[in-house]
Amino acid sequence: MLLQNFQPQPKLVTRSTLVEKPRFPVIDAHNHLDEPFGGGWINRPLDEILDGLEQSGVVGYVDLDGGWGEDILNRHLQTLAPAADKFRIFGGVDWSKWPELGDGFPDYAAKRLRAQKERGAFGLKIWKPLGLHVRDQHGELVKVDDPRLDPIWQTAGELGMPVLAHVADPVAFFDPIDETNERWEELGNHPEWAFTSPPFPPFMSILSSFKNLVHRHPSTTFIGAHVGCYAENLGFVAAMLDDCPNYYVDISARIGELGRQPYTARRFFMQYPDRILFGLDEGIRRDSYRLSYRFFETDDEYFNYNLSTVPAQGRWYVSGLYLPDDVLKKFYYENAAKLLKFPPL
Ligand SMILES: [Zn+2]
Repeated sequence: MLLQNFQPQPKLVTRSTLVEKPRFPVIDAHNHLDEPFGGGWINRPLDEILDGLEQSGVVGYVDLDGGWGEDILNRHLQTLAPAADKFRIFGGVDWSKWPELGDGFPDYAAKRLRAQKERGAFGLKIWKPLGLHVRDQHGELVKVDDPRLDPIWQTAGELGMPVLAHVADPVAFFDPIDETNERWEELGNHPEWAFTSPPFPPFMSILSSFKNLVHRHPSTTFIGAHVGCYAENLGFVAAMLDDCPNYYVDISARIGELGRQPYTARRFFMQYPDRILFGLDEGIRRDSYRLSYRFFETDDEYFNYNLSTVPAQGRWYVSGLYLPDDVLKKFYYENAAKLLKFPPL
C-alpha cells in the first residue's frame, strides 16, 4: 500500500451532536456569493439565497465579492437590493492599475473606494496578493505596510469602511514541500497555493508588516481574516489584539486550526469575546454551517473539521469548544452587528 492511500478510520466511540440551528442568530462576517468561494450563489434567485440563509439561522451576510469595478458591484447590489438590510457588500482594489498609473495609483485607488462607497459598498476586502504578488510601477514587490498605500487606509477610516484583510496563507504553504510539510496532501492537490520562501517573502515578514499597518492606522477598523491570518499561533494574534484596539479577527475556514488546539482556542475566545467574528467562507452550505455550530457549541471530540472523507487541510481531527452562551452571542451576532451596523439583538 502506498502511504497516500492510507485512510485510517477512527474506531473511537464518542458522541456526535447534530446542531441544526445556531443557539443565537448568526451574522456571517466572512463569506462570498460569487465563484469560486461563494459557489456562484449570486446567479441564483434571491429567494433561494434567503431560504438557504434562513435554514442555517443566518440573519446577516457579508458578501466580499463586490470586486473593484462598477459592473460587479452593481450586479451584487441589484440582485440583493430587495433584501439589502441583510447584506453588506465589500469592494476591492484593482492592483493591476499600479504599473500603468505609477505614483498616481494610491490616490486613484482611494478615489475608487469613495466611488464604491457612494454606490453602496460597505467595506473593503484586501485579497492575499498584497504582500505576495502585487507590484509597483518599477516591478518591485509591494510590502503590506508600504506607506505609499496610506491614502487607501486613511480613506477607509474616514468613510467608516471596515477593511477585511487576508494576507499570507497557512504557514506551511511557505515551507518546502517535502515529507515534513503538514499540508503536503493539500499542496499536492493545489500546487498553486505553495508560496515557498524564497522566492516568496517569509511568512513572518508579511505578518509583521500587517501588524505595522494596523498599528499605524488606529482610526481605521481592520478585520484579520482566518483568525488574523495566523491561526497556528494564537499567542501572536492575541498580542496583536492587545496592541491594536482597532483590530478584530474572523474565524472563517480555520476550524481545523482552532480545533486541534481546543484548550488554547477556548481560552482565546474567553479572553477576547468582543473581538472575534463568525464566518464560513464557503458560500451558503447548510451542512458546513451545521458543522461550525457543532464545533463552537458542543464538546464533541475528535471529529473531521470539514465534509471531505480525508481532512482537507491536514491529517488531524478536532474537538469542540463548547463556548458559553454569553461568548457565543457576541461571537455569532453582537460583535459583527457593531462593526457592520446591524440592529442589536
Ligand atoms: Zn474568503
